[in-house]
Amino acid sequence: LKSPYSGGHLEVIVGPMFSGKSEELIRRVNRSVIARQRAVVFKPAIDNRYHVTRVASHSGQSAEAVAIDTTANARAYLSGEGGLFGLPTDLPDVVAFDEAQFFDAGLVPLALELADQGARVILAGLDLDFRGEPFGVMPELLSRAESVEKLTAICMVCGAPATRTQRLIGGEPARFDDPVVLVGAQEAYEARCRVHHQVKY
Ligand code: ADP
Repeated sequence: LKSPYSGGHLEVIVGPMFSGKSEELIRRVNRSVIARQRAVVFKPAIDNRYHVTRVASHSGQSAEAVAIDTTANARAYLSGEGGLFGLPTDLPDVVAFDEAQFFDAGLVPLALELADQGARVILAGLDLDFRGEPFGVMPELLSRAESVEKLTAICMVCGAPATRTQRLIGGEPARFDDPVVLVGAQEAYEARCRVHHQVKY
């Protein structure tokens, strides 16, 4: 039995930074690999946090991954088109996407197609951005998923369960309209609860 669901389905893992989304994705993927299922993990090429060809969690676990620019690259990889990454392949048992919030809108139809074809599709990502607003494709994935897990981190101010990601620039809460990429700025992110999550306007 592959899963509690018959055939393919979508599993979404969300929460703030440091809530263990990558840990949970890696745990699910590594279990399936131990059970001799074929798994492919994709991650956005912009995230080369630790390794180019692995996904890594903040606590050190990792799994093999393919870094891609667009979901079209994932399609090409899975169909073996154009020899982009390798040989033609059969549909893997498990297809996982880490940092799913950074993928383009094509992730939704791709995930649905893979599930319809019988794959277990695991998608991990931030449900909210640093402003506390729904992040990119995540709302639609959450709606369409068979299974949703919302993880929490620990608030760095009070120790309560943290559901938000605090963005700090030079030690101060970031402004609502601060650009997502700030060149040369001293930036940091912290897990915070609703009470201690601050956004300047
Ligand atoms: P995510 O993918 O959600 O950013 P990771 O799986 O990469 O999370 O990392 C989770 C790990 O982060 C935890 O197991 C813990 O070691 C570490 N960590 C760092 N700060 C915190 C925090 N404030 N609350 C909980 N875990 C934290």
